[in-house]
Amino acid sequence: MYRAPRGTSDILPKEQAYWRYIEQKVVNICQLYGYERIDVPAFEDTGLFSRSIGEETDIVQKQMYTFEDRGGNKITLRPEGTAPVCRAYLEHGMHNLPQPVKLYYIGSIFRYERPQAGRYRQHYQFGYEAIGDDDPALDAEVIDMAWQFFSSLNLRHLSLILNSIGCKQCRPGYLAALKSYYANYIHDLCSDCKTRLNRNPLRLLDCKKPVCQQIADSAPKSTDYLCPQCDEHFKRLKRYLGLLEIPFEINHRLVRGLDYYTRTVFEVQPEAEGAQSTLGGGGRYDDLIEELGGRPTPAIGFAAGIERIILNLKQQDVPVPTLPRPQVFIANIGDEARDEAIKLTARLRKSGIGVIEAVGDKSLKAQLRQANNLGASYTVIIGDQEVKTGTVILRDMTTSQQKTVPSSQLEGLLLG
Ligand code: AMP
Repeated sequence: MYRAPRGTSDILPKEQAYWRYIEQKVVNICQLYGYERIDVPAFEDTGLFSRSIGEETDIVQKQMYTFEDRGGNKITLRPEGTAPVCRAYLEHGMHNLPQPVKLYYIGSIFRYERPQAGRYRQHYQFGYEAIGDDDPALDAEVIDMAWQFFSSLNLRHLSLILNSIGCKQCRPGYLAALKSYYANYIHDLCSDCKTRLNRNPLRLLDCKKPVCQQIADSAPKSTDYLCPQCDEHFKRLKRYLGLLEIPFEINHRLVRGLDYYTRTVFEVQPEAEGAQSTLGGGGRYDDLIEELGGRPTPAIGFAAGIERIILNLKQQDVPVPTLPRPQVFIANIGDEARDEAIKLTARLRKSGIGVIEAVGDKSLKAQLRQANNLGASYTVIIGDQEVKTGTVILRDMTTSQQKTVPSSQLEGLLLG
């Protein structure tokens, strides 16, 4: 027997109500904030990701699904959504449109990770990007949108964590300070952090090992090393968030796992914090488009994992609307009745009435049981007698009451 590959899952019909609920909220919030949908391929040239996410990141080093296709091209299943959107922005000349260009996506993401609750090898993300302006008002909008999105889902007890990690100008000074701080603790660090220290010192701050966390707590703070422009940008962002009444916490250890981030970084976390808990995160990436061959183009975005949202909806017992099911079940007894049932099914569907038709040779009792299990509101029963008189029996499945009505009146009764 084949099974779904490790770290992937089937989204079964009984789960779909959660997915549709979230998608609906995504569409609503994006429309409200003026973001348009874009769909990009599930795979891209490997270089797009290694270049943008950063050669030294965990994603590029350990997690990408990379292979050579039959044409000898090096291909990677997308491990995140921002770089493909930026590639599309450049490829389709969107820099010629009024800026910022606002786009959103929903799609599958592939990362070769150790599967556990909330961490999969294929998961789905909803994300959005505002490309073409560095105004902190745009940062505030992007954060506000994430906050309002989670609140529209009726998720509670979330916190918004914020930091600024500076830009090309001020980051080197900060990294130097970090390295010299960590040099004192080199023997205490976990083995991953020891190797990260030279290659990617920012990542030491978000190591989840308790001993590294303790050291990180007293590490130099990026916000103390911001250049005047980044400092002003961060101040204005905090002021705008205040105006929008969005509660935020500054966390100096928030750095995010991708190298392209500059200035603003933020995450939305549930109360029960843990390694797999972050619901979504984002930030500015002012150098990425230029890095990919475009003109200097500041931008900011956010992405959230849909499976983790669902885990939280379930944990918090948030009710989601059930999906509509066919309203009518058509049962039949006898060959002539079967012919009539086939015609009637087609007729009702043409009028927009959802119908499930009994198939096979089941007794009426079994057919009614099936109608019940399917949650049909009404069952239409046709037997020889009904065929002869041009009538049907209409059974209300909630009250079990039934009456004989002319077949021609069914649409009126069901739609009325
Ligand atoms: P990231 O691109 O790592 O910032 O991820 C954005 C969001 O996607 C995270 O906050 C999670 O909600 C979700 N996510 C990331 N990686 C995984 C994964 N392996 N499995 C499930 N969800 C994930």
